[in-house]
Amino acid sequence: MRLIIMGPPGAGKGTQSTRIAETYGVPAIATGDIFRANVREGTPLGVEAQRYMDAGDYVPDSVTNSMVRDRLAADDCADGFLLDGYPRTLAQVDELDGMLKENDVALDAVLVLTVDPEELVERLVKRAESDGRSDDTEEVVRHRQDVYAEQTAPLIEVYAERGLLVTVDGMGEVDEVSARVRTALDGVA
Ligand code: ADP
Repeated sequence: MRLIIMGPPGAGKGTQSTRIAETYGVPAIATGDIFRANVREGTPLGVEAQRYMDAGDYVPDSVTNSMVRDRLAADDCADGFLLDGYPRTLAQVDELDGMLKENDVALDAVLVLTVDPEELVERLVKRAESDGRSDDTEEVVRHRQDVYAEQTAPLIEVYAERGLLVTVDGMGEVDEVSARVRTALDGVA
């Protein structure tokens, strides 16, 4: 199973990704998590990424693309993967298309989680209180929502045209959403 999960910041991608990855036995690859780990470890990649992340901007495509390329080349991705947070720009879509083509594989579905904008801000403010992520301040959160709307939302149309889109209502309890995701993906693979 080769999947992408998309949705605005706060849609619950991380939570659902973990569950989907377990269900289908594929690695969940979250670009935000990889960046944060690099920031923590102080690697050159982390140093490069941090200033963009703290501002709520996207890390440059060149940096992100090569990181994902390396990750997808690992053995555990041979039979499938779940990408969370990538692609996020049209240029990243092209790059991913190239990577998949080189390996003669294709995506099975692009899952989109939808959530009310009001609920999103509320969730992120709560997460800021519990996790203390440095990019979860209200100002940065709002900026990340804008960047998503401008740069990432258009990708939904691209994948819809390819017939890959699976849209799931992300409102409600985590378990309810998981059940909806499960049902939606059962129809795919
Ligand atoms: P969220 O979806 O809540 O914004 P993520 O953990 O997915 O959080 O991403 C956090 C930050 O990491 C983003 O705001 C961005 O700076 C960086 N990032 C993650 N994925 C990408 C990507 N595909 N392209 C560019 N930047 C990215």
